[in-house]
Amino acid sequence: MSFDVAQIREDFPILHQEVHGKPLAYLDNAATAQKPRQVIDALARFYERDNGAVHRAVHALGARSTEAYEGARATVARSLGATDPREVVFVRGTTEAINLVAAAWGRSRVASGDELVITEMEHHSNIVPWQLLCDAVGARLRVVPVNDRGELLLEELDAILGAGTRLVAVTHVSNVLGTLNPVREIVERAHAAGALVLVDGAQGVPHMPVDVRELGCDFYAFSGHKVFAPTGIGALWARREILEELGPWQGGGGMIASVSFEKTTWAGVPERFEAGSPNTGGAVGLAAALEYLEAAGPGAVERHERALVEYAEPALRAIPGLRLIGEPADRASVLSFVMDGIHAHDLGTILDREGVAVRAGHHCAQPLMERYGVPATVRASFALYNTREDVDALVAGLHAAREIFGA
Ligand code: PLP
Repeated sequence: MSFDVAQIREDFPILHQEVHGKPLAYLDNAATAQKPRQVIDALARFYERDNGAVHRAVHALGARSTEAYEGARATVARSLGATDPREVVFVRGTTEAINLVAAAWGRSRVASGDELVITEMEHHSNIVPWQLLCDAVGARLRVVPVNDRGELLLEELDAILGAGTRLVAVTHVSNVLGTLNPVREIVERAHAAGALVLVDGAQGVPHMPVDVRELGCDFYAFSGHKVFAPTGIGALWARREILEELGPWQGGGGMIASVSFEKTTWAGVPERFEAGSPNTGGAVGLAAALEYLEAAGPGAVERHERALVEYAEPALRAIPGLRLIGEPADRASVLSFVMDGIHAHDLGTILDREGVAVRAGHHCAQPLMERYGVPATVRASFALYNTREDVDALVAGLHAAREIFGA
């Protein structure tokens, strides 16, 4: 099937509306993405027909829900190129996935004097859990810097990696700069030093084919709501042999083999990491979203979005006073910029009046803002349903802002 953006847009009811009297140009996909009719219908179907409590079900609805939930796990595994669904843990999103690894793996595998490595371009959710872990166990957090273009300085990674390095945690794609990081190369270097690698895939899965076996990483985390699924669901993929060796991170129902006041034993994986009633509807929605993406073709989605970025970049550059933040050689789906004399939040507000939805702020990446010496940027981020018309609306809105501010 060839990639037909007009047909894709037909699947997303929310896109067909006016905001402040202007056609909506939704360019805030890095924050959260819209949902196709196929996902909305799958949720409605599940709640109209199948909803019951999963696992140990003695009635039909419970059995159907269990089948849907475990089927969704298999879909997640397949979409990540993993062969074993038991390597997939359902979580609330990327943030919870990283906290899970920091708690279950970190508390038992990282000791005083050990080192954890992150990068200067991480989202707060791939910084703060590691800071908490370092504080708790007495480990040290090291940071790989970026160059002015917004690319990781891999020679600095080599200098940091050592016998005490336990983990490298890196984002697949920067949510501010759009930089597509060379994950395979990072994995090779980290593994050679004896460290594991966690990839924050929040900005990866929605925009390109992802294959965890090809990447070679040990953990991969992503959020459903950024990949056209509901909020409150996401997944952590981890190599099974790593998961098998870890103890739980939260206690409760569903994660035990047996409980007594004297001794409690743990369920196998992944149940050991899924305490409490799971978000079954969310998992159903996530599977529907990943199937939708699979049908659209992740490779075609990537090419479509790259073409949009290539169309947008020179048009933005041509606006007097506009400065792009980060110009990486390999950029996916995100453009950040500032404009002389106009605060990012004012720009965002003016663009909204023009029907253009963007993000303005620090994008949960305050250390990166500091690196570039800006308090905030405006960020336009693309998804499979965006068009050149959306880019044109953005550019026109920015010209309008210059006039309003006399910039
Ligand atoms: N990592 C990156 C790169 C992100 O862009 C985001 C969300 O903006 C997150 C992590 C956190 O995702 P969530 O809030 O869905 O857990």
